[in-house]
Amino acid sequence: MMHDKVTIVDVPIDNLTKNRLLDVVYNEIEQKQKNIFIVTANPEIIMSAKKSKSYRDSILKADFIVPDGSGVMMASEILQHPLKEKITGYDLVHTFLSYASEKRKSVYFFGSQEGVAVDAAINAIKLYPNIRIAGTKNGYLGYGQEIAEEIASTNPDFVFIGLGAPLQENWAAKYKHLFPNAVVMGVGGSFDVLAGHTKRAPQFWLNHNLEWMYRLITQPVRSKRMIKLPIFVAEVYKQKWASRKVYVKRERHI
Ligand code: UDP
Repeated sequence: MMHDKVTIVDVPIDNLTKNRLLDVVYNEIEQKQKNIFIVTANPEIIMSAKKSKSYRDSILKADFIVPDGSGVMMASEILQHPLKEKITGYDLVHTFLSYASEKRKSVYFFGSQEGVAVDAAINAIKLYPNIRIAGTKNGYLGYGQEIAEEIASTNPDFVFIGLGAPLQENWAAKYKHLFPNAVVMGVGGSFDVLAGHTKRAPQFWLNHNLEWMYRLITQPVRSKRMIKLPIFVAEVYKQKWASRKVYVKRERHI
């Protein structure tokens, strides 16, 4: 892989453009040699990885960890190692659906409340008429081997897992071997948005990197999760200062 990584609070983020990522992913799909596990990392995921070693082990099994959102981009700026491009999960879902439609690939929607994945699949077909829906399954019926095998038996080219973090990455890491040449990716609440059950922030908020504020206002239940954001920023500064200390020490030894 010809690109560097930016380590943010101990999570190595792949520093590549979306186009480069797509080149590699589509090439692998065509070759059908192996599966590709993609993690779209936001500050919440990075903080969960800091807390839980087993979760961190799960996300380190990914072939790509990409920066999902302005929080991670900002962190890379603070660390003076800027990431090239923000690659969000929801955006990748649409890009992969469009590719799947063009190439007649199949997609499985696993996760979210009863009926949501089905509505998401219906809307996906409206937007991308030639996709094949391998199947849908709600995310509250269990996450074990049996369900994984059932999903694998439909032989999907893309497995979108909308269970939220950390469940979705733990699931992907544990069962990706059942999908020998699929793209496997956690998609958080994307099915809710695609189904029209949750609205994404209007363009104005997205353009100004204020999606988090829009979500906070429209879904105040999320405020507990938002508290993690300033803690994330504090961790990033801690990392920056720690690396500075090492640098200063090294200089003194010369
Ligand atoms: N979810 C699920 N099973 C569970 C817990 C959550 O299917 O046991 C779904 C939930 O219905 C929602 C998604 O996982 O569709 C999590 O969305 P959230 O908004 O938390 O994720 P984000 O987009 O913030 O990553």
